[in-house]
Amino acid sequence: MIAFERLTYSYPGQTEPVLLDIDQHIDDGEFVLVVGPSGSGKSTLLRCLNGLVPHFYGGKVSGRLTVAGKDPIRAQPREMSSAVGFVFQDPESQFVVDTVEDELVFALENYDLPQATMRKRVEEVLDQLAIAHLRQRRISTLSGGEKQRVAIGSVLTLQPQVLVLDEPTSQLDPQAAEEVLTVVQKLNADLGLTIVLSEHRLERVVQYADRMVHVPGPGQPLV
Ligand code: ADP
Ligand code: MG
Repeated sequence: MIAFERLTYSYPGQTEPVLLDIDQHIDDGEFVLVVGPSGSGKSTLLRCLNGLVPHFYGGKVSGRLTVAGKDPIRAQPREMSSAVGFVFQDPESQFVVDTVEDELVFALENYDLPQATMRKRVEEVLDQLAIAHLRQRRISTLSGGEKQRVAIGSVLTLQPQVLVLDEPTSQLDPQAAEEVLTVVQKLNADLGLTIVLSEHRLERVVQYADRMVHVPGPGQPLV
């Protein structure tokens, strides 16, 4: 599902690459945890998967990357967004409209799908994330864990093959974190969705994943 082949990347104006000769394969249906200290390159690695690196961040990239049969380095970000769902650390940064239901519809509206298909997908996602009871709520009134579940829902409506989450629980209390991680694990088990999730507090997430990738620091090989 994901293949990094000697991928090297430097941010604009940086002489030392953050990612150096990365070789990493992730199978279809795997739940992989990306761990490592702050500033080691976890977010950078994840941003490659949907083409945010290099399309949004710029910089210099070499080597190859394949995600869900596509090439994020060369494909248009729009093409990647239907294959790879990306959830940020701070769900607030991801919301565009006021209510839960509108937020779930929003991404779909850019894809020119029949009304009935959109309806069906929104219902499925509300169900999968156990947020159907929140559908009419204003997002600003939700708890942190609920917001993060809505953020996950809003990328799932596009039916991606890969779900990438960048420290999705870092701003949550332990109970809300568990609630979000349980939902992610269920998506992995029930839908066979490939999951790549980063976190710097290992103890919180280790029980949920199949495998761990350690990012020791900029320019250092993954373990
Ligand atoms: P992590 O997610 O593990 O905390 P990051 O991927 O955010 O690490 O950062 C890895 C390295 O890249 C750090 O040295 C950081 O300062 C640098 N970096 C991150 N984002 C940018 C950026 N937009 N421009 C320049 N350097 C960056
Ligand atoms: Mg990060």
